[in-house]
Amino acid sequence: MIFSRENWLSETIPPIFTYIALDLILTAMFIAISPASVSIGTLRPASTIPPKILELVLIGLALGLVSSLTFRKIDLSLITVFVAFVALLDIDHLPAMLGYSEPIRPAHSIMFLVILMLILAFTARKQPEVELIAVAAFLGHMAGDTGEFAVFAPFSFSYSGLDPYRIPLAAGAIIFALLAGYVKYRRYKVKSKVAQKGLIVNETQEQGKI
Ligand SMILES: [Zn+2]
Repeated sequence: MIFSRENWLSETIPPIFTYIALDLILTAMFIAISPASVSIGTLRPASTIPPKILELVLIGLALGLVSSLTFRKIDLSLITVFVAFVALLDIDHLPAMLGYSEPIRPAHSIMFLVILMLILAFTARKQPEVELIAVAAFLGHMAGDTGEFAVFAPFSFSYSGLDPYRIPLAAGAIIFALLAGYVKYRRYKVKSKVAQKGLIVNETQEQGKI
């Protein structure tokens, strides 16, 4: 399998920036609209933070490699966006880190994923695989997380665990990762066909001149 880092910066920086911005905006909004009684989000003990980050990076890396299977190349952009999307979901802990009280994991909600998809549909129009990466990364992150979530926030801030859904979440993450790689593979195939056609047209034009 070949390694590819084509268009690495242009394919990774815009979606990652969008992701961080939305995560923080939604966190701020949920803090503003949630009742004080649900603002009980606290940080895990400091000693458990590095292993948690490592776990998230490994989940992102694994999903990036899974999507590289259907892209038919180990793709640095796929891997980078996967690692970033899986790990950065947790920046919704930032207010707690700064000492503010907040609801538990506000971005770990279906609403975050829905708004993210809508925004990416416009901002990452030329990279349709990014939306599939967003779904896979969200499911993969939730499969690895433990504890309490309000997945239906802001409609309901009642907390419950997701432990019984770990396997379906992981399976969903793998399916969407494979789809993401395939969609990117098709996109690059079309692009190289267009480029080839352009080359042939140019060559015939050159020959016509002679
Ligand atoms: Zn999390």
